[in-house]
Amino acid sequence: MAACVEQQSDKFEAARNRMVKIQIQNRGVTNSAVLDAMRKVPRHLFVPDEYQSEAYNDYPLPIGYGQTISQPFIVAYMTEAVRPSGNMKALEIGTGSGYQAAVLAELVKEVYTIEIVPELAAESAGRFKKMKYENISGKYGDGYQGWPEHAPFDIIVVTAAADQIPQPLIDQLAENGRLVIPVGPPAAIQELILITKKNGKPVERRLTYVRFVPFKRL
Ligand code: SAH
Repeated sequence: MAACVEQQSDKFEAARNRMVKIQIQNRGVTNSAVLDAMRKVPRHLFVPDEYQSEAYNDYPLPIGYGQTISQPFIVAYMTEAVRPSGNMKALEIGTGSGYQAAVLAELVKEVYTIEIVPELAAESAGRFKKMKYENISGKYGDGYQGWPEHAPFDIIVVTAAADQIPQPLIDQLAENGRLVIPVGPPAAIQELILITKKNGKPVERRLTYVRFVPFKRL
């Protein structure tokens, strides 16, 4: 594991611990490494200054450009669903604030993340650098195509809702790898789908209903 999980002390520590207990553990997330990562990553540093005091509340927040940082529970739930472990390589589509990538970076060896809004790609890259997340590589682009140079991925997390699962992402998933993606129409309720690749074929499981910002194309 590239980043070691240990408690950090800051004025939001109590709020962060409360968030994990009430919003995440009480709703059934049990993976202790995931819970530790959620206790560690300083979510308030991933939201605009004016929302810092709300960073540990039970809802998504605006991050500019019409985009949002997901509700903390959803981040934990999706992260648990893809069963991360220390030697893995993960791809995220939809970097946004960089928060989900940072949570993954606490749990796996390497994280690759792609963002289609150039300003958000630049801002999150600045955060990763400042916070010394050396195992995250981010780039600007259309995540539909994945990142073939670094494939195959053990884990793929898509944080924008698509009408269908992009075939390049299924192709870039390793054998036994897990992909989680919200599927459904924009501005409506979507279904969170978990794909596991078995004998080269995607096996699909429906997890829950969610509401994400739309998957865009360049
Ligand atoms: N994971 C983010 C959540 C961001 S919301 C976080 O932790 O903050 C979803 C993001 O997906 C938005 O920033 C949006 O711009 C981006 N996005 C939408 N379509 C995309 C695409 N085709 N490729 C890459 N990013 C995309």
